[in-house]
Amino acid sequence: MAGSPSTIKESLILYRRLRELLSARKKVIISGYALSNEAGAPHFYDMQKGVWSRNESALRPFDSEMGRVQVLNWFQWRARLITRCKGSPSYRALKGCQASLKAPHVSQCVDGLAKEAGICELHEIYGNVFALRCFQCHELIPAEKPMREALGYSQCCPACRYPLLPNVDMFGCKGNAEVLASARQLIKEADVVIKVGTDDDLEPFSDAARQSRQARVTVQAGGVLLTLGETSELLESNAIREIQKHAAGSDCAAVDSMLPYERMLSLLGGVLEFSS
Ligand SMILES: [Zn+2]
Repeated sequence: MAGSPSTIKESLILYRRLRELLSARKKVIISGYALSNEAGAPHFYDMQKGVWSRNESALRPFDSEMGRVQVLNWFQWRARLITRCKGSPSYRALKGCQASLKAPHVSQCVDGLAKEAGICELHEIYGNVFALRCFQCHELIPAEKPMREALGYSQCCPACRYPLLPNVDMFGCKGNAEVLASARQLIKEADVVIKVGTDDDLEPFSDAARQSRQARVTVQAGGVLLTLGETSELLESNAIREIQKHAAGSDCAAVDSMLPYERMLSLLGGVLEFSS
């Protein structure tokens, strides 16, 4: 293992602490925009491609037909982009982790990639671009494969005939408030919060939950940040890999060609498997 003996010792202490945290009975996993970015979808506030960063006065889907069509066009562009990206390797890695972690999953992403990867107990707190919602009577048409293939945004609400929009919280309209409320409750009751590529300016971190004193495991591109109280310590991905190689008694699968989050999640999945 590379590094000084003290570094090895410190890494082992952190590795064991990570395993303890991942073994906690009540955990919740929260994923965010970075996983959509990795799959090829820009952030909604992206300076070049984000819809929310443009002139919002021109985008008023609830005030005018022109505004509604403009927003629909942008979502159709994004939905086609997501369809072409053939899923998210990082969400697939998270699905693998979820099996051993046995934790519910809260997603800030609206691209449906977590659902597509088969993640269970999923709470999409801002909605899903492949589902449709009537913002008049609140009817929800869940994301289904035929809908996704047809990108059926031109449909009208079967209940009130109002034109449907993607089920994404937008421009002050929050159709997914109940999902957010249940996610907040999960976070409140959890002993450990596992964060992957989240945006801390967004719910559920932009409210009181952000101030909570729960233990946090923050998955980053180059390691895992362990936060207990006011203290945060970084366990680097190379150290995790070396410890797991020693524990397995042989080389683990090569992870260098993976995407940064995918690589970290792959290593995280092994923490409960390989003792040290
Ligand atoms: Zn309706």
